[in-house]
Amino acid sequence: MNSPARPRKVRLFFLLLVCGSLMVIWAGYFISLYVIRVNALNDLKSAAQTESILLEDHASRTLDTVSDRLNSLSAFAEPGEFYRSPHSSQALDNLIYGDRMVRSLSLVDGSGRVISSSSPKNLGVKLPLGLMRNTLSVPEPGNVRFGPVLPYRDLEQLALGQVSDHVKLWLISRSFSHGRKNYQWVAVVNPGLFENLWARVDKREVLGIALFSYRGELITGLNLSLQEQSLLLPGLLQQSEGESHGYFETGPHHRYFVAFRASVNHPFLLVVAGDRQALYDNLSRRNRKFLFIPLALSLVTLMAVGLLYRGYKGYESTAREMANQNRAVSAHLMVSEASPEGRIIAVNDALLAASGYSREEVIGQTHRLFNSGFHDKGFYENLWATINAGRIWKGTLRNARKDGQFYWVSATIVPFTDVWGEITRFVAFYTDITDAISISQKLESERRLRAELTKIHQDLVGIAHTDPLTGLPNRRAFESYIAEAMGMSRQLAKPLSLLMLDLDHFKEVNDTHGHVAGDEILRTVSRRWAKLVRSSDMVARLGGEEFCMLLPNADLGRAKEIAGEVLSVTRVPVIWTGGDSSRAIRVTVSVGLASLVPDSETSVERLMALADAALYEAKRSGRNRTSCAQDG
Ligand code: GH3
Ligand code: MG
Ligand code: MG
Repeated sequence: MNSPARPRKVRLFFLLLVCGSLMVIWAGYFISLYVIRVNALNDLKSAAQTESILLEDHASRTLDTVSDRLNSLSAFAEPGEFYRSPHSSQALDNLIYGDRMVRSLSLVDGSGRVISSSSPKNLGVKLPLGLMRNTLSVPEPGNVRFGPVLPYRDLEQLALGQVSDHVKLWLISRSFSHGRKNYQWVAVVNPGLFENLWARVDKREVLGIALFSYRGELITGLNLSLQEQSLLLPGLLQQSEGESHGYFETGPHHRYFVAFRASVNHPFLLVVAGDRQALYDNLSRRNRKFLFIPLALSLVTLMAVGLLYRGYKGYESTAREMANQNRAVSAHLMVSEASPEGRIIAVNDALLAASGYSREEVIGQTHRLFNSGFHDKGFYENLWATINAGRIWKGTLRNARKDGQFYWVSATIVPFTDVWGEITRFVAFYTDITDAISISQKLESERRLRAELTKIHQDLVGIAHTDPLTGLPNRRAFESYIAEAMGMSRQLAKPLSLLMLDLDHFKEVNDTHGHVAGDEILRTVSRRWAKLVRSSDMVARLGGEEFCMLLPNADLGRAKEIAGEVLSVTRVPVIWTGGDSSRAIRVTVSVGLASLVPDSETSVERLMALADAALYEAKRSGRNRTSCAQDG
């Protein structure tokens, strides 16, 4: 039976199902958020890389131009020659004014003095020797050297030490020898020329850009504050060691991720920074609206599990009800189940106990196993026709146990159908009625016996009340009938008449014709007398040749009539054939008649005494006559 732990377990299962489902849903939600963030970051990195490639390309081409021009200037053997060549003069103009990259171009001798310059203010200025000899730590294309980035407008301020707050210079030089003297062409490049880089940046994902020299000096920075630029620098110097491109994150809360690139040909590091936090914030804002998906899924899950639980509860109570019903049926009845083909697929213990078979012996067999051979073929044909038509069959079967003993069952076979009405199995319920059958058999034989006894009794009673010679009622029958008749007459106040009959000289008849002839005479006259009366009257033989007639509801007149008829039918001779001769024997009878309406005083004895007395009178007065009793 149900243990109390089971419902708790089921509830726990459904609770776990709810929790598990919610966990899966929310884990799915957070994992997708994480994947979205990671993907977004990757997108950002690759966007930054793309931007940095474009920008580096642009910046490189700009510096390549400066380097090329400086290289071409140094090809001239003598500085004066340069200025005499109109072609060179044009090149110089192009270099300085053509694309506005170079602020000034100066020729410096070995002592650091500007001996010639595109900017007259620079003429005669002496540059610090240390500055000019400064060895750059980065590879240089040809003999072109990239000097430091300095806060001056031009060489003139550099010599005077007038620092500029707004403009920076980048010194790019190309040294050459003439005779035995050393010279340098020094170009002052305006880093601001890179500022149009920003126009090329895809501002959607990139926060800002910065260009650093390999010394770690900021060449230019766009859209990044000085503080932010200085934040980027340590990471940049650390990461760029030996690598031409890469990523790193920086800032107090890793606010920036940074993509950097450098070319072996050019002495700068290009940095593109993205705002990671801003990206995440933006993502969170965008993803918030997708929160309804896990919320809706959670709701649906809760409802689904709730419905599932309700369904389960319904199923469980139905199953419990069914189990109880099966138990009740099984306790009361024998049950067997058979396939539509008639193979037994299940039996209950009660049937096994009654039949004496084990379950293994029964399963797979047909019900013929239980057949005792009592019922004929037609009986089973009718049974199968009924249940195959989908109707319930009821009847009584005599089955045989395994040990051959018979037992009787009252059977109900029910065809079970599916929703389409197809028969899926036959379920048979049996009640053992062997006891009832044997009781009814016993009762039947008792009934038959009793009927026989009653018949015998009736016969005996008949015999006891019938005279064997004449077949008339005898004295015993007469006595009971006369008492009854008198009671009735008394009740209805109707007359009752009694005739006493005695054959005359019958001794002589016997003596003359023989006792057998006497018997025949007794039979014949008594038959004649019986024909004279109604069914309610009675003719009885009281003994020997004495008879009587009881006539209820007959008054004296009617009784006299009957008595007269008695005398006349008696006188008709009786034909007696005895031995080889036959003869006519004539007898007479004397009749004593008594008739009265009985009252409470009147007794049977009185009536008989009166009739007797009348008979005596008839004998005495000559026989063959009727004498009426004188009552009183
Ligand atoms: P009565 O009555 O006229 O005075 O003369 P009775 O000869 O009839 O008188 P009794 O009563 O003395 O004789 C009766 C006789 O009836 C005696 C007997 O031989 C005869 N009898 C009585 N019963 C039977 C019987 O069953 N069969 C035959 N054959 N005779 C019987
Ligand atoms: Mg007599
Ligand atoms: Mg007589």
